[in-house]
This record gives sequence, C-alpha cells and structure tokens, in this order.
Amino acid sequence: MTRENDTPEVLIAGAGPIGLTLAVALGQRGVRTVLIERSPEPGILPKMDLANARSMEIFGRLRLADKIREAGWPLDAPFDVYAGPSLTEPPYAVLSYPSISEARQHIAAARPGTLPREPYERISQYTLEALLLDEARALPGVDVLFGHQLVDLQQDADAVHATIRTPDGDRSTVTARYLVGADGGNSFVRNTLGINYSGPGDAARHILIFFRAPALFEKAGLGPFRHYYLAGERHGILIAQDDLKRFALHLEVEPGTDVAQLDAAEEVRAALGIDLDIELLHVGACTARLVVADQYRAGRVFLAGDSAHQYIPTGGFGLNTGIADADNLAWKLAAVLRGWGGPTLLDSYHDERQPVGLRNCRASEYAAIGVRNWRGRYDPSVHQDTATGLEKRRLLAAAFNTYQRRSHEQQGTELGYRYSLSGVVAHEPGPLPDADSPVYVPSAAAGSRLPHAWIEPEVSVHDRIGFGLTLLAVDAPPQLIGAFTDAAARRGIPLDVVRVDGRDDLRELYGAPLLLVRPDMHVAWRGYDMDAADAVLALCAGQQGSDQQ
Ligand SMILES: Cc1cc2nc3c(=O)[nH]c(=O)nc-3n(C[C@H](O)[C@H](O)[C@H](O)COP(=O)(O)OP(=O)(O)OC[C@H]3O[C@@H](n4cnc5c(N)ncnc54)[C@H](O)[C@@H]3O)c2cc1C
Repeated sequence: MTRENDTPEVLIAGAGPIGLTLAVALGQRGVRTVLIERSPEPGILPKMDLANARSMEIFGRLRLADKIREAGWPLDAPFDVYAGPSLTEPPYAVLSYPSISEARQHIAAARPGTLPREPYERISQYTLEALLLDEARALPGVDVLFGHQLVDLQQDADAVHATIRTPDGDRSTVTARYLVGADGGNSFVRNTLGINYSGPGDAARHILIFFRAPALFEKAGLGPFRHYYLAGERHGILIAQDDLKRFALHLEVEPGTDVAQLDAAEEVRAALGIDLDIELLHVGACTARLVVADQYRAGRVFLAGDSAHQYIPTGGFGLNTGIADADNLAWKLAAVLRGWGGPTLLDSYHDERQPVGLRNCRASEYAAIGVRNWRGRYDPSVHQDTATGLEKRRLLAAAFNTYQRRSHEQQGTELGYRYSLSGVVAHEPGPLPDADSPVYVPSAAAGSRLPHAWIEPEVSVHDRIGFGLTLLAVDAPPQLIGAFTDAAARRGIPLDVVRVDGRDDLRELYGAPLLLVRPDMHVAWRGYDMDAADAVLALCAGQQGSDQQ
C-alpha cells in the first residue's frame, strides 16, 4: 500500500497540524514514517490563527520558520485586538501588539534570555497544514496517505498492528514499531486504549462562519487587526486570516441551536454592522472543551495534540501545546529507534507532557475567564448616547484593558514550563522560578527550556543545538568537556559541543559552566562536576539502569 514504508518504524494516525509536524520531525531524523488521514483531502478550516513564539522556535529548528513567515501574516501588519460595538462605530478599546518586524527588533535589542528566539506568527491553520504537508511529502522516508482511516489496533511486546480502511473500502494491516494517535478531539486511538479525559468538560458552544470579503478592511475604514471583539449578547469575535481577505466570525449559540437554520450572511451583517459582499466558505458548530487525557502513553502507543488535550481557543494554547508534544516525542522515538535512547526515555513523554497539558488547560481557562469578566460588564445601555452610556463604555474599556490581556500576554505559559516530574532530567534542589506563572522569568534550571541568547551576530545559542544531546560549555575547561565527550562516546550517545567563551552575561543567565541540552532545547542537567559525566548522560538518554554502555 505504500511506496517504501510497508514496515514503517512509526505510524501516525491523523494528518492535522500535529501529525504533520511529527511526520516532518521524524522524517528529518531519518525515521521511516507513515502518516494516515481518514479525510480524502487536507483541512480547509481556519481554526488556529496564532503560532506562538515557542512553536516558532520549534519550527525554526525544523528549518520551517522562514517558510511559515512567507506563507503567513504580512511582516509589517500589527497584531492589534479591538473591542467595540460594531466595525463602523468607534472602538471602546484597542490593545496594540507589535508586528513581526517590530517584534524582531525588540528581540534583537533585548537582554539575553528575556525574549524568545522567534517572534509569534499568524498563520491560518489551513495554510500551515498545506505547508507541512508539502514538507512531509518531500521527505524520502515519509508516506502520507489521505482517505486511510485507522479502524483497529493491537499491540504486543515488539510492535503495533494497525488495521486501516483504504479509500476503496478494503482493509489492510500495517505493522509498526510505534503508533502515535494525532487523531484529534474524538480520538479513535484514545478511545480504543480506554484512556479517560479529566477536566471541566464542555465550556461553550459557538458557530463558526468562515467567509471571504476582500473589501472588509476598506469598508470598515480600519487597518489590519488580529481580532475584533464585538461587545453584545452574541459574544462575537471576528478573526482576520493570514491573507487579510478571509475572516472567521465566531458567535455563541444556545445548546440545541440548528446551525443549518441560521442565515449566515445576515449573521455577519448584523454582527459587523456593515453591508458586505461575502463569499461563504463554511458554516459549522464547535464546542469548546477543557479536558486532558489521564495517560499519554499505553505501551507502544502515544497520544499527541488534541487527542491528548483540548482547550478553549482563547489564549491559543491548543495547537501550540500539541506542537511541543510532537517535538518532545520525535527526538525520543528517534533516539530509541537508533539505539542510543534507553528504556526510560519513552516513559518520560507522559511524565513531561501531561503536566504541561494540565497546566496549559488551566492557562486557557484563566484566559477564558478574563474574557468572560470583561464581557460580563456589557449591557445594552453601553450603546446609549447618555452620561450613563459613556460611563458604562469607560468601565467596559477598563475591564477589557485588564482582562483581555490574559489571552495575549502569557509569555510565561508559552516559554516557562519545566519538566519537574521527568525521570530523564537531573532535577535541582532549592527555590526555582514558578514554572506556572503567566509572566516569564528566564531560567536554565534542569527541565526548563534553554533561554535564548545571541552568541554571534544573528546566531542564537538555539541555532547550535544538535539533533542528539548538546553540551553547552560556557568558559568551561577542556578536561571538563572531555569527560563528557568520552562518556558519550562510550555510551553511543551523539553529543555536540558548543563552546562560548568570555561571556559573563551568559554564565550568569545559565547558572553553570556546563549545560546538557536536549534536541527539544530543554536543559537536562547543568553543573561543574566531571565525575558526574557518565551518570548524567545515562540518566538524560534514558539509559540509567540498562546495560547500554
Ligand atoms: C475556532 C478555533 C480556533 C483555534 N485557535 C487556536 C489558536 O489560535 N492557537 C492554537 O494553538 N490552537 C487553536 N485552536 C486549536 C487547534 O485548532 C487544535 O488544537 C489543532 O487543530 C489540533 O491539531 P491536531 O492535529 O491534534 O488535531 P486535528 O486538527 O483535529 O487533526 C486530527 C486529524 O486526525 C484525523 N483522524 C481522526 N480519526 C482518524 C482515524 N481513525 N484515522 C485517520 N485519521 C483520523 C482527522 O480527520 C483530522 O484531520 C483553535 C481551535 C478552534 C476550533
């Protein structure tokens, strides 16, 4: 059924953004991968609109950041977020956020560690999926099969046996070393494994009206914006897509509303307050959920993306959390398949990513409560041209200014997570920055993302991290480095060495002369002890307790 991958090393179910990212990350590492997707063709829905800074760092490592920026939002268009009664009346408030070009300037001038390597990006989910699909298809070890649905799975000690329904209705069996369920919210894989979800559950039901209206900005007399929050009973949000010609309008609806009965064009007109020629592209209902799977792994099968966690879109954590799942899993699967990753490495996937899934669920809820808080101040008298109306508008604007920021200013949630429960991290004692804070405090403590710093003009320390483990040596003596390279060679662990000398600022930022950094740019260990080399490498490669050396 496939060109060369009749016996793939990894089978991925679901070619949404997470399955596609994982396929690219595995394919780039030479892992034979088959990606199956039950739909006959790629997705066309404008779901996510923001790839956050952490996702862009990850895409940068996959050499995709520039391509994504080319396909996405214009570099000079602002990311502003408005609140107002309609597009034709003065807004109540505007939160201004820098364009990508401006954000790059901030990053270039920032103190080491304080900002990410890459600014955020706005790219519509359908644009991102199409781009990732092209990348996956171009990799020799990756096969992508649309119209192929996973309908059964069994596993034994050595492999997973998957039954797949093909486009002509036949069934075929594929045997792979590992299976990843990237098959979305109603995950067949999760359900088949009997893994439960926990969390508050369904949060809100809304309709999504996706339309094309190239004249919208001009008619509204506005420049590009990211979101326009429409104050009113329907809790409308208008989201500009990456080409600035297509738009998604979300409106809350009562449970049981028959979406087919709605006049979508009239809904758009009423919500925006302007007469517009629109081309309807899609109308559908969505239910936002806040849930996280109790387990991310069962034997040789893993969950990633929405199959493992589903959030309210507010805050933009759904896809972004899934991208980091894929990044975490890709290097571990590759390390195990290539023999240098030991038995505990794959256990750490659940131990690292599920706590982040829970934490980001809370962050998403925190953002959604913020929106609810300011929206709760709305009543129809805000529209009145009276002293009462004026005062109500003032208070609504103040509440928006306070609470809406939770949706756009959680750099700590995006960058500051630490793998505190991991079995393959050399944890440190003592007080450390709060890894759950929405405010980012740079830290290179073991388990954290390595804070970005420029080490040469336009070269970040991130750019030098390898596909195996990397020893980052900041003013470290050669015999200390040698202890690690010798131990890594004995254990068969690929180890790159990055030396940075004469940088007191980095010594202070990183807190030690040696850091062992993983391919997902998380610090596995930091210190100064050459006697620790062998034990540290064994722990961080998951070889501890095994006879791999
Ligand atoms: C309105 C909206 C706005 C959003 N905005 C943002 C945002 O700004 N930022 C953000 O980070 N996230 C956002 N999200 C969330 C984001 O869209 C999801 O988190 C993301 O789509 C998850 O990707 P995924 O690949 O895990 O799952 P999906 O995109 O659901 O893809 C799963 C794929 O698996 C396929 N599949 C299912 N079952 C099988 C099977 N048995 N065999 C084979 N294939 C199968 C499906 O057909 C599907 O293509 C938003 C979501 C919505 C609804």
